[in-house]
Amino acid sequence: METYTCICGNTLFFENSRCVQCQRLVGWCPGCDRITSLLDLGNHQYQCGHSDCQILLTQCHNYQVHQICNRCIANEAVSTSPALCDYCQYTDIIPDLSVPGNHQRWYELEVAKRRLLYILEILQLPFGNNQPDFNPPLSFDFKGDIILKDALWRTVGQGKRIFTGHANGKITINIREADDDVREQLRVDFNEAQRTVVGHFHHEIGHYYWQLLVKERWLGHFKDMFGDHENPLYSEALERYYASGPPRNWQQEYVSAYATMHPWEDFAETFATYLDMVSVLHTAIHHQDANATAYVQETEFDDMVAAYKRLGILLNELNRTLGLIDFIPEILTPPVIKKLRFIHDLVHAAQNINHSVPI
Ligand SMILES: [Zn+2]
Ligand SMILES: [Zn+2]
Ligand SMILES: [Zn+2]
Ligand SMILES: [Zn+2]
Repeated sequence: METYTCICGNTLFFENSRCVQCQRLVGWCPGCDRITSLLDLGNHQYQCGHSDCQILLTQCHNYQVHQICNRCIANEAVSTSPALCDYCQYTDIIPDLSVPGNHQRWYELEVAKRRLLYILEILQLPFGNNQPDFNPPLSFDFKGDIILKDALWRTVGQGKRIFTGHANGKITINIREADDDVREQLRVDFNEAQRTVVGHFHHEIGHYYWQLLVKERWLGHFKDMFGDHENPLYSEALERYYASGPPRNWQQEYVSAYATMHPWEDFAETFATYLDMVSVLHTAIHHQDANATAYVQETEFDDMVAAYKRLGILLNELNRTLGLIDFIPEILTPPVIKKLRFIHDLVHAAQNINHSVPI
C-alpha cells in the first residue's frame, strides 16, 4: 500500500476521506489512481487536486451519503443511480443499518474489501461482476446473524446463522467479524495465530480464484500439490477436523492448522499467505522510495520469499518488543514455500489470461 500527499503537503493514507491538517475532503481519484485532495466546485462536484490530473469527480454514493467509502467516480463514467464507485459495485448486500453498530461494522468491512481489491489490481488478477463472459462473477454479502428475541424463540425457531465463506463467486462475511472483542474471542477459541478482517478477505478470495483459475486449467497440478479435493468429501473432512484437530507436526507441511482440514482450505490458506506477503512487501518497498508495484509484479519468487522472511524476523521482534502477537506467524518451511510458488505461478499465468478487465 502506498501513501499519498494532500495539496497542503500533509501525508494521506488509503483510508482517508479528510485531511487532518487542512480539513479538505480527500478521496480516491480513478484518473490518476491516487488518494487526492478534492477541490470543491459546488453542487457535489469536485476536481482532482493533482495538477497533472485535474479530472472532474463525483463522490461514490457510499462516500457522500454513508461515509463508508472514500472513492470517487470520473464524471463521464457515472452510469448508475445512485452512483456507486468501481469497488462498491461489488457489494450486493450491506448490513441492516437500523441496527446500532452496523454502520461501523459495514465501514470496517468495506475498508478491508478496498485493500483486497487494490492488491488484486496490483497483481493484475482478473475479477469481474457484470461482464457477460466472467464466470463466476465476484460479489460480497455482509450479513449479520438473525437473533430472535427471547420471547420468540419457541415459536419462530432458532433464527439464522450466517457463515463466512465463498460459494460460486459470492463472498459472505458475517459482520460480527468486524467487532474486535468477538473476533479475538473466536481467534482464541479456534487457536488461531491471527484473525483479522483483511485476513478473511485474503482467505475467501483464495476460494474464488480456485474456482476461476484452478478448476478448469490447473486441476492436475493442484491435486499433485494440495491433494484430491474430492476424497475425502469436504463435509467429512470438516467433521473430522473439528472432532480431532490438526495432525501432529502440521507446521512442517502446512501454513496453518486450518489448512490441514481439506485441500481447498490448504489452497485458500496458502493463497491468503501469498496475498499477505505481497501486500506487506508492497508497503515496505514503497516506504523505501522504490517502485512497489513493479517490485511485486516483477521480482523473482525466491527473492520475494527471502525478503519476506527477513522482514518477518524484524517485524515479529518489533511486535514482541511491545508484547503484541507475531506480525507474521507462518513458518515458511520448504513444503510451504513450494505451495506458495504454485500460487505465484498461478497468479502470473492469470495475468496473461484474456478476461475482461474490471469496470
Ligand atoms: Zn491537507
Ligand atoms: Zn486525479
Ligand atoms: Zn464506493
Ligand atoms: Zn475457507
